[in-house]
Amino acid sequence: MHTDTIAAIATAMGNSGIGIVRISGQEAVAVADRIFKEKGKQETLEGSPSHTIHYGYIYDGDQVVDEVLVMLMRGPRSFTAEDTVEIDCHGGMLVTRRILETVLKAGARLAEPGEFTKRAFLNGRIDLSQAEAVIDVINAKNEYALKSSVGQLRGSVSKKIRELREKILYEIAFIESALDDPEHISLDGYGERLLIGVQKMEQELSRLIRSSANGRVVSEGIRTVILGKPNAGKSSLMNVLVGEDRAIVTDIAGTTRDILEEHIYLQGISLNVVDTAGIRSTSDVVEKIGVERAMEAARDADLIIYVVDGSRELDENDLQIMELIRERKAVVLLNKSDLEPVVSLEEIAEKSGHRVISISAKEETGIDQLEEEIKSLFYEGEIDFNDQILITNVRHAEALREAYDSIRMVENSIESGMPEDFFSIDLMNAYEKLGLIVGEAVEDDLVNEIFSKFCMGK
Ligand code: GDP
Repeated sequence: MHTDTIAAIATAMGNSGIGIVRISGQEAVAVADRIFKEKGKQETLEGSPSHTIHYGYIYDGDQVVDEVLVMLMRGPRSFTAEDTVEIDCHGGMLVTRRILETVLKAGARLAEPGEFTKRAFLNGRIDLSQAEAVIDVINAKNEYALKSSVGQLRGSVSKKIRELREKILYEIAFIESALDDPEHISLDGYGERLLIGVQKMEQELSRLIRSSANGRVVSEGIRTVILGKPNAGKSSLMNVLVGEDRAIVTDIAGTTRDILEEHIYLQGISLNVVDTAGIRSTSDVVEKIGVERAMEAARDADLIIYVVDGSRELDENDLQIMELIRERKAVVLLNKSDLEPVVSLEEIAEKSGHRVISISAKEETGIDQLEEEIKSLFYEGEIDFNDQILITNVRHAEALREAYDSIRMVENSIESGMPEDFFSIDLMNAYEKLGLIVGEAVEDDLVNEIFSKFCMGK
């Protein structure tokens, strides 16, 4: 079916130690033989065993293009499950490009973005959720995201989905057989049995759906807003957080409304601090825009950090904000712990309903506790990578929600005493929705859309 031979530069564009040009397809080895000569040997790659490395030169006609190592991997033992040759060349932009051109001249076609992974999927080596994990591994911005994507790549999500589908299929088959052969297979009492089964499935599905809320936080970072009165120490805190030794900062202008976000990377987690009200420049959020507007800014945040100046009395603004953040994921910081305290930690804890951490942005104390608290708010107990699967992909979450709805319908049908063939319609729906996650019964255009998100050479 996919017999033409594709090639692309598989490494990032830019100067580096080595660059890799990857060739995959039926003619991959023949194409490589046309341009590669192993040093001091007469043998061709065609005549060599699989999974061997060959040292030699790439030729464009008589001209040597580069000194390279060539890796030979015959299908199905390769990433694409097709014959694959990887040319390790020097990593300069010009030289990798020249090698690619030579490969294309020798009979390969330039690969589309994601086409290698797409072939791995179409050749049945990985399923769709694993293919998507390839993109996520490449794009992972923090350790949690990476761990979760690697788990997905190794099949954690697929395994769970397959188990659920098997259970559903069993029930569909049972109903269908019983309806076909009522003399031998009885449906007496089946509704009650099925009810127990679907309730279990509902629980499992809803746990997976819930995990997708964390999944977004893991893959994209925790959307964070820092609130506090003027001079509470918000900018000082930001400066500590983005300080060279603990954070990597990049400024990106948001795609909408020009919101500036600073990405802070702390001990394996990422915070995207939304500078909605210009914390760093104007430093008087609450006063300037008012409590309501400040809360509005914080509406979409995953986390609110509220900074209180511990050396001044609490006022009406503080009390109002603390009341408003009671139901939110928030941390309250009692700043300026180096000065004589006027407010007590206990008082604020009681008023805000949140853990209060005493810090000094000036002396950089208490920051570790803040990091620990954020971790425990978002990760601990909820994300255990050893036995819990995390749904990080929006498409998967959507399919899970739809499957959940169908399973709920089955439950309703059982409870309202509908005939059994009603059950199987909704069971079938759930089965198909879950199939979308692993790529069974997905339409070609969805496959194309998913792989178009890849970059070249993947
Ligand atoms: P913002 O208006 O909330 O952004 O507050 P700033 O970060 O601009 O801080 C206001 C003032 O408080 C500045 O003079 C800071 O140097 C000072 N400040 C901030 N944090 C601390 C702290 O932990 N201890 C002390 N003593 N002063 C601080």
